[in-house]
Amino acid sequence: MSASASRADRVSARLAAAGVDALLVADPIDLRYLTGFSGSNGLAVVGPDVRRFVTDFRYVEQARAEVVDFARERAAGSLYETLAGGWPEGGARLGFDDAQLSVRARARLAELLRGRVELVAVSGLVAAERAVKEPGEIERIRAAAALVDEVYGRVLERGLVGRRERDVAVELEHDMRRLGASGASFPSIVASGPHGALPHAQPRDVAIERDTLVTIDIGARLDGYCSDCTRSYATGAPPEDLAAAYALVLRAQEAALAAVAPGPLGRDVDAVAREIIAAAGHGEHFGHGLGHGVGLAGHEAPRLARSGDEPLVAGHVVTVEPGVYLPGRGGVRIEDLVVVTADGHELLSHADKQLAIVD
Ligand code: ZN
Ligand code: ZN
Repeated sequence: MSASASRADRVSARLAAAGVDALLVADPIDLRYLTGFSGSNGLAVVGPDVRRFVTDFRYVEQARAEVVDFARERAAGSLYETLAGGWPEGGARLGFDDAQLSVRARARLAELLRGRVELVAVSGLVAAERAVKEPGEIERIRAAAALVDEVYGRVLERGLVGRRERDVAVELEHDMRRLGASGASFPSIVASGPHGALPHAQPRDVAIERDTLVTIDIGARLDGYCSDCTRSYATGAPPEDLAAAYALVLRAQEAALAAVAPGPLGRDVDAVAREIIAAAGHGEHFGHGLGHGVGLAGHEAPRLARSGDEPLVAGHVVTVEPGVYLPGRGGVRIEDLVVVTADGHELLSHADKQLAIVD
């Protein structure tokens, strides 16, 4: 059976518990996961007895090649009109993801299907399947992670001091493309000195100075799948508080990594790192969650954070990325990508984590 057929079967098996007969899939990444379609405009309906896929004329040829397990339909007007036009009589309950469908789209669909279909808000049904990776998906993520490891090797070769953050970021993205990535999976972060205290800093037209820390957070998209890895480097001898923050974050990161296995909830793993950082007096300087799932999207389920109430299971691919951010001084984040295995975990990021001096 093809990957998309078995994914559609697995999602269909979740529908009865959610109280719906079929599910509308409109999110492009969910659509790619379920049907194989990699274009930007499509809709699918999936259920035990239904596999419909609708796209517009621009994508008819692409869909013929990519979408093999769904009945393909070409929309004459809007996708929703086509979807509604082909709807059989009978009182079906159609689920839609209320985190994805706009209020306007929902109203339009309700109007088109009035009297025939009841729309029911459900959420996360495809996300829950996407979170648990198949072996082939893990292979792709492993390759995307290895590509980023190689890019980090070039940071060490080229050096950092005196180069502008933006130039470093552009060159890293160029490296990713040259190594086969379709691009970066999110805007690259290169943040030096006090700017490193911003977890989502944008690279500036500012030269990197000596004797501070530089945080670099990059990910590659390869064969549709993402990776995500952060390293912080020293440009000479960093101030004592930043060096101490580095040692603390590394200790917290390794302890949290060791806790990654089937069983604990996302928040349990988050707590391992958070308690170590809080015990050192830096609880308020670690303001984001410990990690997130990675797959076709750069950020997806499950969540390793105080709100993470799902247990880890084999096949989850998550980041472990504690940080300490000292306002006006600088910051440290160390992030690895890891896959949960039947009896523990396997690290997918291999760039060195001992504080390296790069000048
Ligand atoms: Zn990252
Ligand atoms: Zn991340």
